[in-house]
Amino acid sequence: METLTATLTILGTAQDGGIPQAGCGCPNCSAAFEDPEKSRFPVSLGVRDNSGGMHLIEVSRALPEQLKIWANACGLDKPVRPDSVLLTHAHLGHIEGIGQFGKEAMGCTDVTLVSSDSVASILTTRNLMQPFSKVQTDSLKPPIFEKDGVRFEFIPVPHRDDVSDTHAILISGEKSRVLFLPDHDDWDETLGSVGYSNPRDWFGSMNLTHVLLDATFWNGEELPGRDMTKVPHPTVEDTLSRLKEFENEGPEIILIHLNHTNPLNNSNSAQSQAIEAAGLTVGKRAWSIEM
Ligand SMILES: [Zn+2]
Ligand SMILES: [Zn+2]
Ligand SMILES: [Zn+2]
Repeated sequence: METLTATLTILGTAQDGGIPQAGCGCPNCSAAFEDPEKSRFPVSLGVRDNSGGMHLIEVSRALPEQLKIWANACGLDKPVRPDSVLLTHAHLGHIEGIGQFGKEAMGCTDVTLVSSDSVASILTTRNLMQPFSKVQTDSLKPPIFEKDGVRFEFIPVPHRDDVSDTHAILISGEKSRVLFLPDHDDWDETLGSVGYSNPRDWFGSMNLTHVLLDATFWNGEELPGRDMTKVPHPTVEDTLSRLKEFENEGPEIILIHLNHTNPLNNSNSAQSQAIEAAGLTVGKRAWSIEM
């Protein structure tokens, strides 16, 4: 059998609502309606293992397009049909496309599901488990899933656990170690839960090559008329200030999970220039990392 190089492909980089967002005429959404290049699908990753097994992380409502983008990135002529699905938590944007696996669409019956018990129980409640067989994991420990040269290790993170618990996923291969952290509430809480005082030390402890990092909001003034404490995420301003003193050290940081209001959606904004000057990048769909 042909040996492949394990590869991670970014399939979506927006917060759960995607960009453009339904019912929104803000400048970022308007620009994305005008120019599809500026649109962003809700966050999702595809990981191909060394023997061609296909593992999808998060199932957004843009699933049909994302499975085709993934295939193109891997040089396949047909859209991917994933062998397994991994879910960080059960907020809508991360599971919205999951019905597509069922009999109304793909008609899958044996897709491996890797998630916490709490996420699986939400899918069961919503009658969405039929296409899946859940990997049995020690219910007291976060899931670990290993497949042909790639290992997925779930790490609990605090994130308004109103629907299910939430995990980051450490994806490691022979060449790369990537932390996928699309949603968390607050740096102090997250770092406290893992026992570090700054993100760089935590990233260093995992020997990471890349971080795909929650960059939902630029700052606390982004949702006029809405209580931002109800949708907590560390702001990019906060993340930058915590990373700044360690500039040029550590893993490549790729910002993802952008809300439609985030000025980083405009590549000409002052904020985009500040990110670039700090050595960070904003993720783009179809980017790949050799694992
Ligand atoms: Zn999210
Ligand atoms: Zn908008
Ligand atoms: Zn969430």
